[in-house]
Amino acid sequence: MPRTRQQNVTAAQWSANGSALGSTDLTQPANQVFAANVFSPAVQRRRLPKHVYKALQKTLERGEALDTSLADAVAQAMKDWAMERGATHYTHWFQPLTGSTAEKHDSFYGPVGDGTAIAEFSGKELIQGEPDASSFPTGGIRATFEARGYTAWDPTSPAFILENPNGALLCIPTAFTSWTGEALDHKIPLLRSMDALSGAALKALALLGEHDARRVFTTVGPEQEYFLIDEQYYFERPDLVITGRTLFGAKPPKGHELDDHYFGSIPERILACMLETELELAKLGVPVKTRHNEVAPNQFEIAPIFENSNVGSDHQQLTMQVMQNVARKYGLVCLLHEKPFAGVNGSGKHNNWSMGTDTGDNLLEPGDTPHENLQFLFFCTAVIQAVNAHQELLRASIASPGQDHRLGANEAPPAIISIFLGTELEGVFTAIETGKARESKPGSFLGLGTPVLPPLPMHGGDRNRTSPFAFTGNKFEFRALGSSMSLALPNTVLNTIVAEAIDELSEKLQGAMKGSTGLEKALTKVVKESWTANKRIVFGGDNYSEAWHEEADRRGLANLRSTPDALPWLVDKTTVALFRKYKVLSKRELESRHEVFTEQYAVKINIEAETAATLARTQILPAAVRHLNELKASGLAELVEEVEPVVRELHFALRALEDANLKDNQPDSSPTKWAAYMHDRVIPAMDDVREVADRMEKLVADDLWPLPKYSEMLFIK
Ligand code: ADP
Ligand code: MG
Repeated sequence: MPRTRQQNVTAAQWSANGSALGSTDLTQPANQVFAANVFSPAVQRRRLPKHVYKALQKTLERGEALDTSLADAVAQAMKDWAMERGATHYTHWFQPLTGSTAEKHDSFYGPVGDGTAIAEFSGKELIQGEPDASSFPTGGIRATFEARGYTAWDPTSPAFILENPNGALLCIPTAFTSWTGEALDHKIPLLRSMDALSGAALKALALLGEHDARRVFTTVGPEQEYFLIDEQYYFERPDLVITGRTLFGAKPPKGHELDDHYFGSIPERILACMLETELELAKLGVPVKTRHNEVAPNQFEIAPIFENSNVGSDHQQLTMQVMQNVARKYGLVCLLHEKPFAGVNGSGKHNNWSMGTDTGDNLLEPGDTPHENLQFLFFCTAVIQAVNAHQELLRASIASPGQDHRLGANEAPPAIISIFLGTELEGVFTAIETGKARESKPGSFLGLGTPVLPPLPMHGGDRNRTSPFAFTGNKFEFRALGSSMSLALPNTVLNTIVAEAIDELSEKLQGAMKGSTGLEKALTKVVKESWTANKRIVFGGDNYSEAWHEEADRRGLANLRSTPDALPWLVDKTTVALFRKYKVLSKRELESRHEVFTEQYAVKINIEAETAATLARTQILPAAVRHLNELKASGLAELVEEVEPVVRELHFALRALEDANLKDNQPDSSPTKWAAYMHDRVIPAMDDVREVADRMEKLVADDLWPLPKYSEMLFIK
């Protein structure tokens, strides 16, 4: 059936009178639903015996282990609470290495032998589960014949209830481990890295004369970009359904050139969808704060208030899930792929990161004059040193096939990792290096050129949108994460490398303080040395420019362009030594991740390539041939001459892709070789087919073209 424009008309006719408008208005105090579905400290206080509640609170506040003898009491209270809220089942909710979350539902009810059933939930069931986990990726850690894997309750991330149209499910955040104790998930290493950083930071704080803190938490506040498109288009595009991105599609005549989308007013249907998403997330205790249009048409952003890394990472997984579920209620599909539309801005995730004490101190918060603030300088220096020492590992922590379309293209941060500090802060370090102490400029004001507007204090760190790792006033913003990605690995890496740098600086500081040198002098010396050794990683200019690529090369910074280039750093000897020292991941655990991610890369490219070949063979080529036949029937030879060679070109490129896709032509000796083949042979073959097909899209009669076009998907809402 030929496509007509009917779909567009239907898409545009969405009306607010469906379920959408009239949903709960969160600005009304009476409608506050925040954390209504969370087994939060407030609920725990009401429902738990006092001593149990106190023990659990300590665990939450200080990240200390919970006495498991208290588990029965917690389980009982959790079950009663959940069942009152309609839950019939519970699940250990975990994050295997697939990058998404996993759940296996168990009923609360069990038969008691007399033909009836009662609801039960014991401490043991709360603490430990044994999912039939043979099909999760493990990279050789656990052979399928010994398919045992355990999930273990993480009391530091509160349990929550997920509602569904037929009931509700109690979700208990858990870690996932092999029976030999190796981490099979993303949560365990993240928790271990938070411990490592806390230990190092507390020691450093003591040196700096700060003894009150009992725990240092790393914090994360992710800004998530995504696309929403009408679901009719989505389901007409097998490439979107199967691979998450469009494998074909000519660039529309209008992109974001007019800059008319960014921060523009939000269309009603989208806004309704956002509101309900926020409502659902609020119930789950996810502190969503901001929303706005992003640069590309139909692209948006959602960001929560920051939380500790573990909870923030769990909440981020929930956010992605809820966004996708709610979108469908509005006839929309939420696309989280890093590059759903070629030639159009892709989607990333900004990972705002800092460290804070349990006494409420942000360790990356400068004082009034930054260079007087010794504590800030110390921790900031540690971050610079860490990122310089492990730039390749940081890059590897965000590698994925989707990311390869963004990093290095002229939109997202480049594949070269560097740090932006802002002129003010960079000036402070330079002053320390040259020994010319100077006043920083707290009194800088931004004149707006009109007496009507008050002068604004200039933000300490001014903005550089092109930097992959930027200081933004009281935190660092790692901007190179992909939109579909779990936060866990990049934050695990950040925490661990910074823990190491803190320890190294502490040791130097201790040395420098021997004799009677005061803290300030000793610290200045340590900061100066570290800055001089690591300042090559600091760059304040345009990260997209060709000049920076050359300059970075001169500075010896790594430029790992593709996933196969980056992933080997997960098992580099520097990484292995670092992760062993801080007990975050063993060599075997690192190797398993390397293997899993490398294989995932190859498998994903393979799926894309087969989808592209099938689409080209069964939809695009037939449309082109029909069009050609119509031209031939018309007897207009000049038109035939225009189109016929392009049809042949398409066929030729398609044959090459099909050939590259043949299993027999793909090396199967190791995941690394397979990934390299996919990168070197299959991706270029896919690109060739696409190049011709996209030209063809602009030649073939519109009613014969089988796929919704960019100009439809991105603009009709
Ligand atoms: P931007 O200008 O980058 O869009 P936003 O204010 O929208 O800035 O986002 C800032 C993000 O940084 C928010 O998600 C916020 O929660 C997070 N953030 C703020 N302070 C911290 C902190 N101390 N640690 C981690 N994240 C933080
Ligand atoms: Mg940001």
